[in-house]
Amino acid sequence: MNIILMGPPGAGKGTQAEYIVQQFQIPHISTGDAFRLAMKEKTDLGLKAQEFVNKGLYVPDEITNGIVKERLQQPDCANGFLLDGFPRTISQADALTAMLDEMDKKLELALNIKVDRALLLARLTGRRICKECGATYHVIFNPPAQEGTCDKCAGELYQRSDDTEEKVGTRLDEYISKTTPLLQYYQDAGILKEVDGERDIDKVKLDIYELIRGQSI
Ligand SMILES: [Zn+2]
Repeated sequence: MNIILMGPPGAGKGTQAEYIVQQFQIPHISTGDAFRLAMKEKTDLGLKAQEFVNKGLYVPDEITNGIVKERLQQPDCANGFLLDGFPRTISQADALTAMLDEMDKKLELALNIKVDRALLLARLTGRRICKECGATYHVIFNPPAQEGTCDKCAGELYQRSDDTEEKVGTRLDEYISKTTPLLQYYQDAGILKEVDGERDIDKVKLDIYELIRGQSI
């Protein structure tokens, strides 16, 4: 089963990826991991990528695509893979289709975990951190006994500047504008399936299992 997994920050993509990998015994391939591996093993592409990273520059598509391709050619991908964080653009999506073609493979499922922007905002802005001991809380999912005060040391809780509504909102809007064309791309290809990610983690998990099983019959 060859799958790409999509979903905005705060949709629980990482957790669901772990479940899928365990349940279906396919490797979870994030571009970050593929890059680290290529750099660590000092492959030609890894060394090239390293140069860009060292200079603080974006790694060009042809190198990124090459690294993904090499990763997908590894033996552990023989029975499928779960690709996460790639493609990010239509041109990368085209490159993915072409490289899979060359390998006599095709993408079978583009899975999108869907969560309303307002809920994502609530999830992502709820984190609070203790000024004294660094303990983390969440105003909805893991609130302290007394609002604004650390359970462990009674220290004052604060919100990181990255977690403010303004910053998170900007990140979400960027994600949405970049991803919308990709969702359309896979919709047109007839392989997009969406899961309602606003429910319980376990319910989302079961929906995903069902979609994957349904797809492989
Ligand atoms: Zn504390």
